[in-house]
Amino acid sequence: MNAATVMARCAALDVHTEVPGTITRRYATPALAGALREVEGWMREAGLETRRDAVGNLVGRYAGTVAGAPALLTGSHLDSVPDGGRYDGPLGVLSALSVVERLAARGERLAFPIDVCAFADEESVRYGTTYLGSSALAGRFDAEWLERRDQDGVALRDAMTAFGADADGVAEAALAPRSVLAWIELHIEQGPRLERADVPLGVVTGIQAQERRRIIVTGTAGHAGTTPMDGRRDALAAAAELVLAVERAGRDTNGIVATVGTLSVEPGGINVIPGRATFTIDVRHPDDDTLAAALTEFDAAVTRVAGERRVEVLQTVLSADRAVPCDEGLRAVLAAAVRARSLPVIDLASGAGHDAAALHRLCPVAMLFLRCAGGVSHNPAESIEECDVAVALDVLEHAFRNLPPGARR
Ligand SMILES: [Zn+2]
Repeated sequence: MNAATVMARCAALDVHTEVPGTITRRYATPALAGALREVEGWMREAGLETRRDAVGNLVGRYAGTVAGAPALLTGSHLDSVPDGGRYDGPLGVLSALSVVERLAARGERLAFPIDVCAFADEESVRYGTTYLGSSALAGRFDAEWLERRDQDGVALRDAMTAFGADADGVAEAALAPRSVLAWIELHIEQGPRLERADVPLGVVTGIQAQERRRIIVTGTAGHAGTTPMDGRRDALAAAAELVLAVERAGRDTNGIVATVGTLSVEPGGINVIPGRATFTIDVRHPDDDTLAAALTEFDAAVTRVAGERRVEVLQTVLSADRAVPCDEGLRAVLAAAVRARSLPVIDLASGAGHDAAALHRLCPVAMLFLRCAGGVSHNPAESIEECDVAVALDVLEHAFRNLPPGARR
């Protein structure tokens, strides 16, 4: 019954979209406001006390029995990527709410309050801000973000005002670390490992370290017909070697994923030797040192290719995020809850970023992944099974009941 409600509510949020026929719910849009309103209504029906913070996050509190006890934060985000899927985000919010509804139906309270969080922005697609919603709670909101503009030229500050949020009050959204017990989030896996293992849930070990760079290779443009092969400084041929070096870094080291996702060539003519090639790399690994070693190997390839081909290579680091380990104590609680359902415990590193990356600065964090069909996410084809959700609700409830009072670091 609970799992069916979660599935139905996830589906009911589809109508809150910027583009009919798709699920497109970016930060501070009327579509997101509609989804937040809908979820707030469900929270109130369940007897939760709701509030909105300065960036527009929705938090519904289910009170505990011990006065002043730090709160368990749980939930996920309600924003989506353009033409995204139904479950990335809403599943975590509505599952957390469902667990609270079970407790409420039995008139049962835990020692600590449970704050069901529906973050207003995790995907960062409108302003390129990282975890805007949870960053505010963690006291990591960067005031410079307020001046950023979206593709229509709307400044974040103005979008927040139109959304009923309070750009100047963001600092007040930050929670005191002593008021928070932990963050626990259920999220779809966004990868194929659970499906391959034929297991509904996995316990997340952490969020991978990740570095992104822009690389500009400069050679000399020239006539494709008249410039001899031995005199060329072909920027694209050099970039091609480096693209393969990135792929090799991924293949040579277990656990590294390395991607060149963009590549542009200038001047870009069928009869012109490329004078400049610009590409990006995205390299990730669960361990900071292993990632650093792979990047050092790539740097060596850059030096070699630049020398051999007499091209200039300029690297700019666009972002460098350290690995975020999930809390060992919380992982043990989740693992015990999974075992209590007679399921094997599958440990998974998260390849994607999540709100836990912002919230680990505030409190211990942990995540559960739920299998999704084909590992597909950020796509309308996103699909999960109701029976898996039923297992997830049991596991979450078991974990909430068995949180160590000293979960705080
Ligand atoms: Zn997500």
